[in-house]
Amino acid sequence: MPTPERRQSSLRRPAPLTEVPAGGEALRRRVYLWATGLGGLILLLLWVLQLRRPAPDLFALYGYPVLLLECLWGLFWLLGHRSLLVAERATFLLNALAVLAQLFLAVLTGDGQALTLSGNAYWLLVAVSILSYLMFSARQGVWLSAGFYTLGVVLPWVALGLRGQPLPGAADLLRVQLSCGAILVLLYSLAWYRERFLLERGHRLTLEQLVNTDPLTHLPNRRALYAAIERLLEEVRQGTPGCLILLDLDHFKRINDTFGHNAGDGVLLESARLLRSALRDSDDLGRWGGEEYLIALPGVTPEQGRQIAGRLRDRLAAHVFPGVGQVTASFGVTPCTPHDDLGSSMARADLALYAAKAAGRNQVALREANLMQENPVQES
Ligand code: GH3
Ligand code: MG
Ligand code: MG
Repeated sequence: MPTPERRQSSLRRPAPLTEVPAGGEALRRRVYLWATGLGGLILLLLWVLQLRRPAPDLFALYGYPVLLLECLWGLFWLLGHRSLLVAERATFLLNALAVLAQLFLAVLTGDGQALTLSGNAYWLLVAVSILSYLMFSARQGVWLSAGFYTLGVVLPWVALGLRGQPLPGAADLLRVQLSCGAILVLLYSLAWYRERFLLERGHRLTLEQLVNTDPLTHLPNRRALYAAIERLLEEVRQGTPGCLILLDLDHFKRINDTFGHNAGDGVLLESARLLRSALRDSDDLGRWGGEEYLIALPGVTPEQGRQIAGRLRDRLAAHVFPGVGQVTASFGVTPCTPHDDLGSSMARADLALYAAKAAGRNQVALREANLMQENPVQES
C-alpha cells in the first residue's frame, strides 16, 4: 500500500520551460570515483613493475607517481563532494600534459624508447579523449581528440625518422596507432549519440512540460490533473483514503471588470502560489480551468479533507492581493471511493462546489459518496 506521507506529487512542479534536468551528476561522480580508484591501482602496479626493470622508462619512473598523486587527490576531492567541474578540468589538464610529455620524450629520446613511450601515450590519449567528450560538446571533444591524435601520430614518426636508421618497430607502431584511431572514432560515435540522445530528451521533456503545464500559473493543467486523479483513484482502490477538492474564486469576473484583466491574471498567479505553499509535497494541485483549481489529496479522510479546505479558505481570505485587496473562494470536497471513476468523483466535487457557492460563497462543502445531498459547512 503506498505511504501517502512519503509519496511525491506525481505532477511536475512549476519550472522554467527551458530547464533541462541536470540529472546524472551523482552517477558521473560515482563513475569517476571507480575510474580514479581503478586507474590509480593500475598505475601503481605498472610503476612497481617498472621499478623492477633493469632500465625503467623515464616517463613511467617519474610521471606515474605524479599521476598517482593526482588520482589520490581526485579520490579525496570526489569523496568530499566537491565540484565535479574542478575535478574534471584538473584531471583533463594533467592527463593532456602527460600525453604531451610522453610524446615529446618519444621524440627527444635517442635510446630506442620512442616506440614504447609513444605506445603508452596512446592509452592516455584515449583517457584524455573520454574526458574531453564528458567535459565538452562532441564537436569540441572531436577537435581536442583529433589534435592530440595528430600529435601522437606525427611525433613518433618524426622521432623514428630523425634517428635515420631503419625502423624496426615501424609495423608495430602503425598497428598501435591504427587501433588507437579506431577507438577514437568509436568514442566520437558514442559522444555524438549521447549528445543527440540528451538533446532529444531535452526536447521531449520541454514538450511534455508544455503540454501538461498551465502557462499562466505554471501549475499542472487539466490534462496533467486527469492523470493525477486516476493515480489517486488507483490508490483508493488499494485501500488508502483520498479526497478531491475543487475550488473556485468568488466573483472573479468582478475583479476583471473592476481592476482589469492583468490584475485578474495577477490574482490567479498569487492564489496558485498561496495554495501550493499551503499543501504537502504529496498533494497534487493544478488549474482545472478559468479561476478553478483542483487538489488531489492522497491518504486524506473526508473530515481531514474538509479541514484542509477550511485552512486554505482562511488563508486565501486573509491574504491581501496587491492592488486588488481581499479575494475569497468556495471549496467543494469529496472523498474518492473504490467504485469511482474520474467522471463520478469529479461530478461529486462539482456538486459540492455548487453547494458551497449556493451557501453564500467563501464556504467549504463536503459531499460524501454515499449521501445524495450536499452538506455545506460554514467554517468560522
Ligand atoms: P462565482 O463566484 O459564481 O464563481 O462568480 P465568478 O465571477 O467568479 O464566475 P464567472 O464564471 O461568472 O466568471 C469567471 C471569470 O473568470 C470570467 C472569465 O473572464 C475569467 N477568467 C477565466 N480565465 C481567466 C484568466 O486566465 N485570466 C483572467 N484575468 N480572467 C479569467
Ligand atoms: Mg468564480
Ligand atoms: Mg468558475
